Formats: sequence, C-alpha cells, structure tokens
Amino acid sequence: MYNNSISEQKHQCPCGQSFFTVKKFHDRNGLFEEYWEMSCNRCKQGYQLDNFLKETENGPAEAYFWVPRNIFSDMVILEAQLHKAQKSILALAHEMYLEQWTLYCYKGKTKREIWNRLTSQGKREPGYKLFDRMATSSNMADYLKDYFNYQNMDYVLKKLNVRDSKIDYMTNMVGNIKQRLEKTQRIMRNKGFINKVQYAM
Ligand SMILES: [Zn+2]
Repeated sequence: MYNNSISEQKHQCPCGQSFFTVKKFHDRNGLFEEYWEMSCNRCKQGYQLDNFLKETENGPAEAYFWVPRNIFSDMVILEAQLHKAQKSILALAHEMYLEQWTLYCYKGKTKREIWNRLTSQGKREPGYKLFDRMATSSNMADYLKDYFNYQNMDYVLKKLNVRDSKIDYMTNMVGNIKQRLEKTQRIMRNKGFINKVQYAM
C-alpha cells in the first residue's frame, strides 16, 4: 500500500503578472518535499529561490521564498568573504600557537589529565567518555589540532594567555563582515516573497 501523493498549487508571482508553482511530494510518513518553480519570465530575471530552516510542529523544516537576485548575490559574496576571513585567522592562529596548544595539553601525563586541560576540568564539551572514545594515543595530536578550530579559537588562546594584535585585528574584520551579512539577511527576509494566496487561472 502506497500513500504517496503529489500536490500542486499555483501562486501569484512577485510582480503580480503571472505565477509560480509549488509542487509537494508527500510520503506515507507525513514527510514531504517541496519544489518551487517560477513561471513568470520577468520574475525569473529579478528573483531567485532561497530557503531557510523554519521551526515547525515536526521539527525544523525547509521554508522557501523568492528573493531579489541582487540582494542574494550580495549575500553570497559576504558569505564567501566571511568564510575566507575565518579560514585565514585560524591558519594564522595554528601557525603561531598550535604547537604551544599541543604542548600545553600534553603536560597532562594521563588521558584524564589531558582531558582536564582540554575542557578546563570538564567545564566544556566533550564529556570524558566521548573524549576517551574519540581520542586515542595514535590520533591524539590530530584530535588536539581539530579541537583548535574556529569555534574554539578564543577559548584556546585564552587558555594559553595569548594576546595577539594581528589576530584581534582580523577578528574585528570578521565581526564587520558578519554585521554586514546579518544586515543583508534581514533585508532579504523583508524583501523576500512568500505568497500563500493562490493564483486564479
Ligand atoms: Zn512576475
């Protein structure tokens, strides 16, 4: 027995002259996938489909909307800049302090002592059980390197009592890019187009 079904709806497009189509494929578990297709030639040029995660009764689900292409491309550029800037800060931080970080952790003579140093006596993730499983004597150096990622970078540098003006400067730059990106995302949400009104053929 199959309960899969397909539904199709037409909605008015942003310029109001034509429509876009939303196709939904439902499966029997209540899950569905959505496909949005723009039929209006004018809106095809001016708009681009984007999606974001939205909280629903069944957990997070993808929600779609049409966004102006120029705003969308600004966002893509900013995202790429952000990614690149974060990558180069981390590369610099590794170049300067990875060895120091590894030595700091290896001052722990036992695995538990290394974990104590890594997590400030368990004040941070991972818990000891997980650490014990993931970090082995043969991959410990790689584990410590992976831990020194962008998210943990501030924490690691604080542990090492490092103040590095170049890293601070680059971190500021990342903050600026982030602000511009958030602003662009807000504009996009405001100008984004989701039309629930059905199009009358
Ligand atoms: Zn249109």
